[in-house]
Amino acid sequence: MAVTDHVDLNTFVEGVKKRNPGQPEFVQAVTEVAEDIFDFIEDKEQYHEAQILRRIAEPDRVISFRVCWQDDKGNIRVQRAWRVQNNNAIGPYKGGIRFHPSVTESVLKFLAFEQTFKNALTGLPMGGGKGGSNFNPKGKSDGEVMRFCQSMMTELYRYIGADIDVPAGDIGVGAREIGYLFGQYKRISNEFTGVLTGKGLEYGGSLIRTEATGYGATYFLQNMLATKGQTLEGKTAVISGSGNVATHAAEKVTQLGGKVLTLSDSAGFIHDPDGLTQEKIDWVKELKTVRRGRISDYADHFTGASFHPGKTPWGVPCDVALPCATQNELLGVDAEMLIKNGCIAVSEGANMPTNLDGVHIFKKAKILFAPGKAANAGGVAVSGLEMSQNSARISWKEEELQRLLLDIMAGIHSRCQEYGTDSSGYCDYVKGANIAGFKKVADAMLAYGVV
Ligand code: NDP
Repeated sequence: MAVTDHVDLNTFVEGVKKRNPGQPEFVQAVTEVAEDIFDFIEDKEQYHEAQILRRIAEPDRVISFRVCWQDDKGNIRVQRAWRVQNNNAIGPYKGGIRFHPSVTESVLKFLAFEQTFKNALTGLPMGGGKGGSNFNPKGKSDGEVMRFCQSMMTELYRYIGADIDVPAGDIGVGAREIGYLFGQYKRISNEFTGVLTGKGLEYGGSLIRTEATGYGATYFLQNMLATKGQTLEGKTAVISGSGNVATHAAEKVTQLGGKVLTLSDSAGFIHDPDGLTQEKIDWVKELKTVRRGRISDYADHFTGASFHPGKTPWGVPCDVALPCATQNELLGVDAEMLIKNGCIAVSEGANMPTNLDGVHIFKKAKILFAPGKAANAGGVAVSGLEMSQNSARISWKEEELQRLLLDIMAGIHSRCQEYGTDSSGYCDYVKGANIAGFKKVADAMLAYGVV
């Protein structure tokens, strides 16, 4: 075969920018990965020749469609929805569905790209995808959410399937939405298959799926701390978000002896200097999933806690931090502040919560920093286990699943170490995760030839 001209990193990134105008989140995610992959493939001609990175950074397909639904007042509402099928080299496309007004094609392309590496890191056979809509579930009645989900699935069902593409939840999509989506899929297709994960236990869901992302991000943190001979016992933790990932991360940190000082939502953060207890965390879960209230209510309910409107929690001094809300919620200035205040480890529960500046600052300071694609992979890993249980029509016991989650997170940690540790012993987990994820997908792609 002919030896191809190698482009350099800058030329590659410029090309990505040019081909994806107005998609900053996607360009950011590809740039972060490319920074590490270019070093790794420098002397590996086969990856250049087959243009592997260029191909992974071009989704297999992006499906965009209209979703019409009727609100409680009888108004016709029109939303836009997408499914991005990024890469299925190692298994069916797999990734969540997000409902949030900030959802755009760029956001979903970045998430599907990241998901490709994350799923590879779990060691399970899952490709990368992501979907969602700019529908805002906040303030909507159950009936409105149901009609929206049914309308969305009436189109989406054509593109998914247990061996094709298996969506799950994400921001704004929890147990209620998965129930409505699965109900409509089953009705249209007349099939009961594992086409979605995160299902209720009554209809094929897996134990510990709800807890898995937050617990997994905490296990990853534990693994990182162990490399320094440390544990979470007695450590203070700052957590952002108050949804599925944040509340379960808070729960596990607390169980392991840490003291969680903060939670947040899009309106601001609460600071509880006494630390969150299981009772307080249960109160937040109920607030967010049943009453669908605001985190500011916490400060009204629990004495000693304060609410800080319009702010993120990164200025609160802590030993460890877990950003668990959304992308780009932790900026360079926040990273500097965390380091200045003595933070020694950051584990990303959310996807790409730290912007590129922040990533560079954490890497330069050589603190323990786990990127989302490694740290938050516990959720999709248990989704993969849900798929296996669905195919085999069995349900595993909780202890078995807890053990598997611990093993999978430890496995991801070692894969990151394998590719991220330098001669001084410092582990760059971002680099390790990018290279380990890339290698697995790339080697499968090489086997397929030019497709
Ligand atoms: P939820 O919808 O349960 O919670 C999201 C939380 O983040 C809420 O507290 C929400 O506040 C806050 N939030 C959302 N958007 C913003 C914003 N623009 N600015 C500030 N805060 C915001 O979602 P999850 O907990 O499931 O997801 C959180 C993150 O974890 C996302 O990045 C997601 O992609 C990632 N993730 C989730 C997985 C899962 O299993 N659920 C798996 C892997 C990653 P508010 O209520 O005000 O919107």
